[in-house]
Amino acid sequence: MRIGFIGLGVMGAPMAANLARAGHTLRVNDLRRIEVAGASWADSPAAAVADAEIVFTSLPGPVEVEALAAQLEPRLARGAAWFDLTTNSPACVRRVHSRLAPRGVQFLDAPVSGGPTGAQSGKLALWVGGDQPSFERHLGVLRAIGDQPIYVGSIGAGSVAKLAHNCASFTVQTALAEIFTLGVKAGVEPLALFKALRQGATGRKRTFDRLAEQFLPGKYDPPGFALRLAHKDLKLALELAREVGVPMQVAQLALAEFDEALRRGWGERDSRVTMLLQEERAGVSPRVPAEKLREVLD
Ligand code: NAD
Repeated sequence: MRIGFIGLGVMGAPMAANLARAGHTLRVNDLRRIEVAGASWADSPAAAVADAEIVFTSLPGPVEVEALAAQLEPRLARGAAWFDLTTNSPACVRRVHSRLAPRGVQFLDAPVSGGPTGAQSGKLALWVGGDQPSFERHLGVLRAIGDQPIYVGSIGAGSVAKLAHNCASFTVQTALAEIFTLGVKAGVEPLALFKALRQGATGRKRTFDRLAEQFLPGKYDPPGFALRLAHKDLKLALELAREVGVPMQVAQLALAEFDEALRRGWGERDSRVTMLLQEERAGVSPRVPAEKLREVLD
């Protein structure tokens, strides 16, 4: 297919190279001239997308994508599909989508996950939001970039999934810095601590799979691990942190949740019942039937 690819950074350049390797005709552009094997250089974004059946962008963020959309709007061919691989804001992709739809151009958000190594090897997740038939029609092309393209929902849904994912990554990263500095300052050798932690229940489980156990089915009784016991463990860890002088900002927030759940009289329910407090605050109860979860996990 004829493809225009704009934004040849750490992620964009290897993704463009994989599209060229898959046999597509590629015209590429960036602010700086960057050679991509198998692709021809276009002197401007407009030249890259002229006559393109598919446009890809991998840009820093919403500001760049929105400015480019305004510039390219009159140049895009009717019937073209534009997959934005940028990590973008849902509001921005929805605005660009509404702007291009009347011109017969399908704009889809398609943020990726897997880092530069995944961009090179083609082992990337792609979370796509927008017109489902356009997603399905272009699955072959998307698979040249990432081995796991998934249709998430209407325009913006891919970006919501990506932001939720990265928010989890960065929050977990902050919590891990806390617990590791606690363990080492409390006297455990770093390599021994690393080996021990990855053997534990949390260490052995894929991060998001735990959502399927109590939270998504909404089932906290009978308990696997009672809240009163989990509360005791968290308090002991924070006492230890005080003794050795390690500040624990994230764990303190977790303890406040556990305290509140105990005050509600939930001590004999499963420890994950604390997640109900966030459901109440957010005003949303995300339930998925157990059999649907099993289909995904299998
Ligand atoms: P990058 O800064 O390396 O690349 C961005 C490229 O866009 C640069 O080459 C820049 O020159 C170019 N650019 C900026 N404005 C332009 C314009 N108007 N016209 C043409 N080119 C323009 O960033 P990256 O790491 O490749 O990330 C790209 C996107 O992917 C970001 O939204 C990022 O959040 C996301 N992302 C990055 C990673 C990662 O690990 N690096 C992983 C997943 C998603």
